[in-house]
Amino acid sequence: MKQLTELSPMERMIRQQVVERGIRDERLLNALRSVPREKFFLRETQNEAYADRAAPIGHGQMISQPYMVALMTHRLDLRPEHKVLELGTGSGYQTAILARLAGQVYTIERVKPLLDEAFERLMELGIRNAHFRYGDGTLGWPEEAPFDRLLITAGAPEVPRELLLAQLKDGGLAVLPTGPEDDQMLVEVRRRSNTLQTTDVCPCRFVKLIGKEGWEEC
Ligand code: SAH
Repeated sequence: MKQLTELSPMERMIRQQVVERGIRDERLLNALRSVPREKFFLRETQNEAYADRAAPIGHGQMISQPYMVALMTHRLDLRPEHKVLELGTGSGYQTAILARLAGQVYTIERVKPLLDEAFERLMELGIRNAHFRYGDGTLGWPEEAPFDRLLITAGAPEVPRELLLAQLKDGGLAVLPTGPEDDQMLVEVRRRSNTLQTTDVCPCRFVKLIGKEGWEEC
């Protein structure tokens, strides 16, 4: 095995932050390898793209820590035929990873300039199975529902039940952070007909999900 010092920053991140923390799924690791994370950073912070933390992307929003992206993606258990809804496009980094592993990805962002930049980045990477919408993601994307998987990358006060019961397939899976701003939990929610079964994954910290089934705009 190569010494850590011989590895590129990206390979070092994958080994130290993802593999050594227990995520060894090769399909997922290869998806991480195929997306240059620095392209999703502001110019002034690009040298921190492989650091073990979240980073600002402007408009008060953050790109998630690499391990959190890997963990959420792993928990989603994606297959090539899956149709995925993502709320909180942000930089588009997580969207790009989802697009490598799923069939079609529908992503919604409420900050228009972030959505536009994310769209440009994915176009540049040649990703054509991601679809972008501007607006309140908690309303979902009714025209494309139902979805096999749903990922929310901003924290809601509670599980958005109405959205999940209306737009997630029966047997489908959602991964999202919930709870008060300073005490969030990443949860996995399985829909079984009209019930939602919630399992805690780990404590986490995300920016607020703002919208009908999220927090009120202040
Ligand atoms: N996955 C992103 C992280 C983005 S941070 C990345 O890897 O870069 C969360 C994003 O959710 C922010 O950009 C914020 O504007 C957005 N957001 C918050 N509430 C939203 C809502 N109701 N609908 C869509 N996007 C929302």
